[in-house]
Amino acid sequence: MTVPLLDLTAQYRSIKPELDDALRTVIETQRFVLGPEVEGLESEIASYLGSAHAVGCASGTDALLLPLKALSAAPGSDVIVPSFTFFATAGAVWNAGFRPVFCDVDPDTFNVTAGTLEAAWTEATVAVVPVHLFGQMAPMGEILELARSRGAFVLEDAAQAIGARSADGVAGTVGDAGAFSFFPTKNLGGFGDGGIVTTNDAELAEKLVKLRVHGGRQMYHHEMVGTNSRLDALQAAILRVKLRHLDDWADARQANARLYAQLLGDLDMVRLPHVAEGSHHVYNQFTVRVPRRDDLREHLGARGIGSGVYYPVPLHLQECFHALGGKEGDIPATETLCQEVVSLPIYPELGEERVAEVADAVRAFYR
Ligand SMILES: *Cc1c(COP(=O)(O)O)cnc(C)c1O
Repeated sequence: MTVPLLDLTAQYRSIKPELDDALRTVIETQRFVLGPEVEGLESEIASYLGSAHAVGCASGTDALLLPLKALSAAPGSDVIVPSFTFFATAGAVWNAGFRPVFCDVDPDTFNVTAGTLEAAWTEATVAVVPVHLFGQMAPMGEILELARSRGAFVLEDAAQAIGARSADGVAGTVGDAGAFSFFPTKNLGGFGDGGIVTTNDAELAEKLVKLRVHGGRQMYHHEMVGTNSRLDALQAAILRVKLRHLDDWADARQANARLYAQLLGDLDMVRLPHVAEGSHHVYNQFTVRVPRRDDLREHLGARGIGSGVYYPVPLHLQECFHALGGKEGDIPATETLCQEVVSLPIYPELGEERVAEVADAVRAFYR
């Protein structure tokens, strides 16, 4: 039995008639960009998450970029981001004209904390971007308290965490704005790129609506320099169908995670993901820490089992950020994680048999 890291065809097969209908409807209308499907998705996402506004855009990367472009802070100001995240978190900061300042994460939850953000704080810090990595919320209560006390804007990178929540609230709705991705591998994935920004701030929402269409409400009249970051109606139609299934899929991901914990819990070599108390983890990835990570992956691959490394290189050591002066040893927990993490299959349609197959293969390697 082969076990891919992710099987999008299994999800498509499970809801094919609904998706095909939704696509056909858009094709019949020939309304492909923004329009009623996108407005429908925006209001459904806003009400699903409990946020006052949701503004669709072209990708999760743009969902980070647009609120940063809306910030009225001096160009070159500092924005703190974790070094242990997908590149886009820092790339968006750079592309908005700010300087990414990298911080460490809690090695158990993989997330930033008020403590790791505070340790990286500079005089020029105007914003922070906590990432809810792998589907678990960062501790937003303490993060918000720190940011508020220092007057910094809080942009949540919730690209991997739609539907995650904790005692602090729902991922993407606690800070000043939240960025979500609809890339196909995310928990709510389209048939291509897409993203959405959430906010409770009406003024910010209005700016975002302008920034995604070259900075104006009225065609050919530009109040700001925006960009083309519109969401396609075909994507919105697909996402509206999938949103109805999202909670069931999260339940299935959690059931898979529980089974892994049961089957691997006694292995000292494998450090399972730590779920903070009261946290509703939606497991975009099931990421464990192991010794001899690359050998384990080879062993799994030889048995037809997919795995992934998110992420192999800390962002402070990326070539493109060389000029920022990051050196090996600067951000220790992140650097260790980049050597030790491996993500195992967790997709909703996986099923118990495949989870057991993966767990058996992991056990066999460490025996
Ligand atoms: C996927 C992802 C993004 C970017 O989303 P795209 O839709 O691929 O542009 C940003 N941040 C994190 C943490 C992600 O996982």
